[in-house]
Amino acid sequence: MNNSNQKELIARGEHAILGTYKRYDIVFSHGKGSYVYDTTGKKYLDCGTGIAVLAFGHGNEELASAIYEQAKKLTTVSNLFYTEPQIKLCEKIVSEMKQNNSEEDGRVFLSNSGAEANECIMKLARAYGQKSGRFEIITTINSFHGRTFAAISASGQDKLKVGFEPLLPGFKHVPFNDLEAMKNAITDKTVAIMIEGIQGEGGIIPATKEYLLGLQELAKSKDILIMIDAIQCGFYRTGRFQSYERILESKIDEECAFIPDAVSMAKGIGAGFPIGASWINGRLSGVLKPGSHGTTFGGNALSSAASLTAFNLIEKYSIKNNVRTVGSYLTKKLEELKRDNSSKIKEIRGLGLMLGIEFIPKVVRDEKYKDLPYASYVTKKCLDIGLLVIPAAPNTIRILPQLGFSKEEADEAISLLKSVLDDLDS
Ligand SMILES: *Cc1c(COP(=O)(O)O)cnc(C)c1O
Repeated sequence: MNNSNQKELIARGEHAILGTYKRYDIVFSHGKGSYVYDTTGKKYLDCGTGIAVLAFGHGNEELASAIYEQAKKLTTVSNLFYTEPQIKLCEKIVSEMKQNNSEEDGRVFLSNSGAEANECIMKLARAYGQKSGRFEIITTINSFHGRTFAAISASGQDKLKVGFEPLLPGFKHVPFNDLEAMKNAITDKTVAIMIEGIQGEGGIIPATKEYLLGLQELAKSKDILIMIDAIQCGFYRTGRFQSYERILESKIDEECAFIPDAVSMAKGIGAGFPIGASWINGRLSGVLKPGSHGTTFGGNALSSAASLTAFNLIEKYSIKNNVRTVGSYLTKKLEELKRDNSSKIKEIRGLGLMLGIEFIPKVVRDEKYKDLPYASYVTKKCLDIGLLVIPAAPNTIRILPQLGFSKEEADEAISLLKSVLDDLDS
């Protein structure tokens, strides 16, 4: 397909698709591994993977055939019944969560998206607080928890909320990684604290060790639930199942250093197939009773089989090691880029293959991008030369490649970034 066809498709899209997104002028058509192609045939190195979704890149044959085989056999029967894929997937998530956690087994509620996974744990918190009359959930500034009413109410970003008031009551936001602020925000109505292990939309900001352990201590003394939104930072993106395990690595083997009460997951766990999951600590497994929560599609046999296959591929291809090796290689190369471009790059952040480059913003002359965040402009410059990255708040671009990303592909990403940097004003 040529460029005028792509332009025509975009014009049709503008008429048919509700305009809730400012989209880049690209129509993607297919992909393989770390590469994705648009309808003009242009090739891109995909360091965005649908925002940390495609854990094994594009067109993975094993995942595709597992989905195909399950689709022929059984797709859904409703949650009034059991299916083997759902049981196996929940067992797998429970066992992965147990690795560094000697507490009683957890339980899992399956859904279809991140926002839904958060809805479940926020309802858990409300239900848990009923007896003591507590309902307030404290989250952090610049957090992102999704787009449903509860999720925008929970998120610490005004731009998600403006125009939708009144929001759901009972949420409070405090600065991230600030234990003192959290301590001061707690009242006798507080029932839960919810944070991302690494803030994603907020600009790739990992929680510190001291913060995680401090929150846990604080919460324990007041019977407050600790809930982790692991939707973007989970599923081995940092080299361990959960980002807090990676953050606390040196401490975590000293027996249960950090045990959350609830963890929401989505994005990577389906490796491209839509699915969400809420893990709930065993001690709370009786809080949400029969009839208290539900879903039609959640946990269907098809999405469960896809996600189970994703978990199996992690083992089969030693993905955790790859994320560590290639992640630290990429980080080292990005640090070198920063050193050579100190007037353009402010900071490199992140863990494993969840990395952020914060730029020092400059005046943008390009009409279309001059009023948008600087990260949107840098993203456009990357796309122009065939590198797909994802912007985050407001001056950071995210590097979120597939978890099987190779060293050679990392070198290619660095060389593409180099030429973008050469092209940016200093
Ligand atoms: C993407 C994301 C969500 C929302 O997930 P959806 O699947 O879009 O509903 C929630 N929290 C975090 C941290 C996310 O990155």
